[in-house]
Amino acid sequence: MLIDTHCHLDAAEFDSDRDAVHAAALAAGVGRIVVPAVAVDSFHRVKTSVERYPGCVAAYGIHPLCVMQAQESDLAVLRDWLERERPVAVGEIGLDFHVTDSDPARQEFYLVEQLQLAREFDLPVLLHVRRAIDRILKHLRRIRVPCGIAHAFNGSRQQADEFIRLGFKLGFGGAMTFPGRPASAHWLPNCR
Ligand SMILES: [Zn+2]
Ligand SMILES: [Zn+2]
Repeated sequence: MLIDTHCHLDAAEFDSDRDAVHAAALAAGVGRIVVPAVAVDSFHRVKTSVERYPGCVAAYGIHPLCVMQAQESDLAVLRDWLERERPVAVGEIGLDFHVTDSDPARQEFYLVEQLQLAREFDLPVLLHVRRAIDRILKHLRRIRVPCGIAHAFNGSRQQADEFIRLGFKLGFGGAMTFPGRPASAHWLPNCR
């Protein structure tokens, strides 16, 4: 059975063909699809999606490109959802220093808080890492989470080895097929 560990099936981009996309995935042998949230405003949307589509399971978290709109109280909301819904992972969380109008310090604050929640609830983390690999490894060495996946990885062999040493799997996704800089192969989340 194939597992898609990262699919934003709840996103508006799928509004016109969500049923068909899900059916095509099942037909291709994908038996599990992890749908990660990006902001507390998306939690209900993700929950509705995974309840509607067989094989889909949820992850809840605050995406690094959604922290500018986030409030500290969102972390309490996330904790409630982790406690009540028992999702398969905390995500999507991480650091994105490629997008310059998102405050790095604010991203790191939300990353650290969410890593601590993952450790507390003994959950894997789904990491979004762009232009911040060494920085995120520093946090992962300090706050040991059970395991996780860094998706759209485009770092060095040494950085890959360090993720693996810390118990992580790596995702390559679109980076394998992009002729240009793989750093641009990221989807922008809708935080509302
Ligand atoms: Zn994502
Ligand atoms: Zn991402």
